[in-house]
This record gives sequence, structure tokens and C-alpha cells, in this order.
Amino acid sequence: MTRPIRPPVLAANWKMHHGPTAARAFLAEFLARFAPRDDRTVVLFPPAVSLHPLAESRADRADVRLGVQNVHTDAKGAFTGEVSAPMAREAGADFALVGHSERRHVFGELDEHTARKCRAAVDAGLVPMLCVGERIEERNAGETDAIVIRQLRAGLASLTPAERATVLVAYEPVWAIGTGRTATPEDASATHRVIRAELASLVGEGGAAVPILYGGSVNTGNAAALIAADEVGGLLVGGASLDVESWLGIVGT
Ligand code: PEP
Repeated sequence: MTRPIRPPVLAANWKMHHGPTAARAFLAEFLARFAPRDDRTVVLFPPAVSLHPLAESRADRADVRLGVQNVHTDAKGAFTGEVSAPMAREAGADFALVGHSERRHVFGELDEHTARKCRAAVDAGLVPMLCVGERIEERNAGETDAIVIRQLRAGLASLTPAERATVLVAYEPVWAIGTGRTATPEDASATHRVIRAELASLVGEGGAAVPILYGGSVNTGNAAALIAADEVGGLLVGGASLDVESWLGIVGT
């Protein structure tokens, strides 16, 4: 990847929305209204089938980066329905989400899978964005720190310390995703500090520069306060990234 990653990182996870036609229409309007900025990094995670159409219609706007929402652990093979990291890279992705809560809790993805997917992403030249976060019952049981530390250690286990310094981490409390319930900036900072401390031990000095994004019901009304919170190096946005107006409000925060 040639362009450096400059925090804050504003990332849109479109989930299973915006096929090629809608994705291209979104991008055309977004590019017309968003001038390139050097003080932030904008990433779109469209469905895999929309990656290449977006990469082609992006033309010279390399400031708007693309990522894939999931990759398989292997580079190729008899895995019907899956997309590999090298294929996503070829289609135009620079980033790969790994361990999103829907992958973990809807599709049964385990820590060992996130480790292999981070490895596959790095091998293909993709930057992994490793998602970690606790469920509500884990939060209520006081297990938030232990859960995010476990997911972080497991997800990065297959990478060398130097490789770990190149990843991004997204803290997404499961109870905040798609629920309209957002962590307060103070709560987000508290967990980001735990992640930062763990990165120091897993990565060494390079851990201080790893951006830690917050995700979970971010919208135009709460984005500014969250982005200003201590240790919050960006935002990963689902629902509020689907509408150009709302996304423009968030990336302009
Ligand atoms: C997400 O899917 O990563 C997410 C944060 O979703 P939402 O913003 O809709 O809560």
C-alpha cells in the first residue's frame, strides 16, 4: 500500500447493502461533495461484489480507500461462496475487516479464525482491521477488558511484532452495534486505553501508533464527541454510513 494511513480513520461498513449500482451512485455523489483531505483516512467497506466496480469508478480519487468485509483463511481452494484475501486485493481492497461481531456471533467465527484471517490479509498485502468487543452479558459481568484482551492476543497471534504494528484495531461493543446504544466517550476511552496497553506488550514501541477505532451506533450527532475522546483514532460506522448525507457529516467531523 502506498498512501500512509493518517488518523482519524473514518471507515464505513456497508454490510450487505449497496450492490454495484447503488455503490457506484453513492461514490459518485460522495466524491462530488467531499474534497480530498490529508488530515484523515476514509475507507469504504462495500460488499465484495461492489469492490471492483468502486475501484474502477473511483478514478484518480485514491484518497478514498476500499476494504473487504471478510476474507477466507486460504488463498484459494474448494470453498464455495468465499472470497480470498488475494482476490479482494486484486479487486481493489487495501484493508480487510477481521472478526467483525457479525462474523463472530452470526457466522460462528472463532479466535483461531481471526488469527488465520489476519495472516491471510497481511500475506496478500491487505491491512487487517481487527474488530474486538464484548457482549452485554460479558460487560455486565465485568469481563470487558478480559474479552478484548483475549480477542486482541488471539487475532494478532499469527503476526510478527513488526506486522502487528501495521494493523488497525476497532473496538466495537456488541451491545452497541446496530442498536442505537452508543458507548459514552469516557467508556470508549477506558477500553481503548486497555487495548493500547495490550498493544504495547504485543507490538512493542510500534503499538503506540496503531489506530484504535470506535464502532457502535455512531451517527452525525455523536461522532464529534467520540472522535475527540482520548485514544479514539477513528470511527467504524455501519448504519449511518449508508446514506451519503449522513456519511458526509461523519467524515467531515
Ligand atoms: C458495524 O457494523 O461495524 C457498526 C458499527 O454498525 P452500526 O454503526 O450500525 O452500529
